[in-house]
Amino acid sequence: MSPLRIIIIIILIYIAYRLITAGRRKVRSARGTQKPPQHEMPVSDTLEEDPICKKLVPSRQAVTMRLHGTTYYFCSEECCNTFRTRQGEQQ
Ligand SMILES: [Zn+2]
Repeated sequence: MSPLRIIIIIILIYIAYRLITAGRRKVRSARGTQKPPQHEMPVSDTLEEDPICKKLVPSRQAVTMRLHGTTYYFCSEECCNTFRTRQGEQQ
């Protein structure tokens, strides 16, 4: 057996060993991730209902409008404008 073959075999064994250990690590991390990721939904953020399309929108990302001391949350500028138009019609 040439020294080159021995080196190749050692490299292959090393790669196989790394694949096995990487697979074990994946199983461990999958078991460990029972908590939902916190960066997607911060604790201080709340879901507010869009009065126009009835969608729930995170207050931080929502388009907001204050009217008569109440803050309204909208999924988009379009819903905000629709709401404003409807308020104008009522008064
Ligand atoms: Zn909307």
